[in-house]
Amino acid sequence: LSPVPSDIEISRRQTPKAVDVLAKEIGLLADEIEIYGKTKAKVRLSLLERLKDQKDGKYVLVAGITPTPLGEGKSTVTIGLVQALTAHLNVNSFACLRQPSQGPTFGVKGGAAGGGYAQVIPMEEFNLHLTGDIHAITAANNLLAAAIDTRILHESTQTDKALYNRLVPLVNGVREFSEIQLSRLKKLGINKTDPSTLTEEEVRKFSRLNIDPSTITWQRVLDTNDRFLRKITIGQGSTEKGNSRQAQFDIAVASEIMAVLALTDSLADMKERLGRMVVASDKDGQPVTAEDLGVTGALTVLMKDAIKPNLMQTLEGTPVFVHAGPFANIAHGNSSVLADKVALKLVGEEGFVVTEAGFGADIGMEKFFNIKCRASGLVPNVVVLVATVRALKMHGGGPSVTAGVPLKKEYTEENIQLVADGCCNLQKQIQIAQLFGVPVVVALNVFKTDTRAEIDLVCELAKRAGAFDAVPCYHWSVGGKGSVDLARAVREAANKRSRFQFLYDVQLPIVEKIRTIAQAVYGAKDIELSPEAQSKIDRYTQQGFGNLPICMAKTHLSLSHEPDKKGVPRDFILPISDVRASIGAGFIYPLVGTMSTMPGLPTRPCFYDIDLDTETEQVKGLF
Ligand code: ADP
Repeated sequence: LSPVPSDIEISRRQTPKAVDVLAKEIGLLADEIEIYGKTKAKVRLSLLERLKDQKDGKYVLVAGITPTPLGEGKSTVTIGLVQALTAHLNVNSFACLRQPSQGPTFGVKGGAAGGGYAQVIPMEEFNLHLTGDIHAITAANNLLAAAIDTRILHESTQTDKALYNRLVPLVNGVREFSEIQLSRLKKLGINKTDPSTLTEEEVRKFSRLNIDPSTITWQRVLDTNDRFLRKITIGQGSTEKGNSRQAQFDIAVASEIMAVLALTDSLADMKERLGRMVVASDKDGQPVTAEDLGVTGALTVLMKDAIKPNLMQTLEGTPVFVHAGPFANIAHGNSSVLADKVALKLVGEEGFVVTEAGFGADIGMEKFFNIKCRASGLVPNVVVLVATVRALKMHGGGPSVTAGVPLKKEYTEENIQLVADGCCNLQKQIQIAQLFGVPVVVALNVFKTDTRAEIDLVCELAKRAGAFDAVPCYHWSVGGKGSVDLARAVREAANKRSRFQFLYDVQLPIVEKIRTIAQAVYGAKDIELSPEAQSKIDRYTQQGFGNLPICMAKTHLSLSHEPDKKGVPRDFILPISDVRASIGAGFIYPLVGTMSTMPGLPTRPCFYDIDLDTETEQVKGLF
């Protein structure tokens, strides 16, 4: 239709096929799916065993230029591409997307189901609770948080003996260690299984975690942009007996459990990762884990359904997995390894899985390669780099934009000079992809105000910068048929042999790994570590965590640490203010400048427009 109706109107006008029909079409057996309503289903991991001899399809990553407020449309391109592949070129394909956080959905960004005629439907199901995975993460995260503070309270009020008697109670006159307690004894070097034989010293060692409250890194989380929880004081009730301390809430999608969900490849692996999560140090400087707190099994129980990928569909009836959604600036920003693995089996050797990385290629794609591919062992075949003429104009020096104010003419009328100047950002992102040895196809997501000359110029400059191909795409206004050229280019690029390589060796010292990313990817002259960052690096190295990959927490709005530096900033020194560790997820994350882990709401949040028609039960105002 012209003009193109709103995302939610388009979504609602298409009747999705029943999810069991879709599941059958893509080769799932009846007992491999768990249906949630009419349009969503979870897929059981037993399928990986059934299809273990099936060769994987081709693996395509969609990444973008440095984001601007004008938007690039990575999700839209991801959906447009699979619609083109499956519905128009007759090639099996799957899109794998992140589940959006409800923070941005009710805050500034709105939904993330794609847009126009390239969407996942029903978009309200996609954007709201889906099948409850983020709620499960919140529950698990906060159970662990409660376990930490409660343990400190109990240790502060009870004698060694009393603690021991409560931790290992008499049941029918017999005291027995649980499995988790036996593994703690082993870790402590106490080779005993009979609780009555522990010496006084062993009872003390076993019962006291001696958590140093000032070292607690585990925070409570919530999937709401609630800035008033950025700094809080907990334990102020008299029943907590003075065990009060400053703490904070993070947004749920920034939690380590979200990263664990996204990086795990089986239930057993998820359980191990959950147990390994380090929450604090003890008073001797040794790491305290979820396993030490005895909560691993309970966390795994809370997460047992969340681990299964969620099946949905595009507007053109092609399959989509929506699974996991770590933020890209403060976490690793990629959907789950498991969804990709299952999809790669389902599409077959000739098929395509298109997965999306958050924010610009310098952030989401770098983490996709160095963290996600390292965890999964999967080898990507093609990178699709998304750009828009208007965003490139902003990188070329175009004026800033204000929400709610009409765009200035630089963005709505032809301006070749601004496009030419802004292509430096696209060229730099192409070069970053090439560091990893993967061919790049540039997808120029066309807006109706773009002119032929502007489109041709971007494609020409992208090819000159080394892109395998660069094609304009029109899926937003016409659906999959508008991206058939992109699909053909991707198919051709995938036939090239991938020379994929990691950017750094994980065995390098932490500082060297950070410096490599800063210089080779962001273009920094060097890095500068704060004393805090240096002492954390020393501590993690000494604790034996020095050989993990790096997950930079950096603004997504610039290649540098300064959000207003567009284009390709040069000669900057990247400041590393702090360094943290997600041991269960399996990465070290340096903080570049100050990064908020709990977003706030603007003056006019999206929730002003969101409403329910109480007669029809239809959701209104999502976009
Ligand atoms: P990203 O994944 O980069 O955050 P999305 O794909 O979610 O971006 O798109 C953001 C918004 O921009 C959506 O509401 C979508 O409808 C809109 N959009 C994307 N491409 C176009 C286009 N070519 N023309 C007009 N609007 C578009």
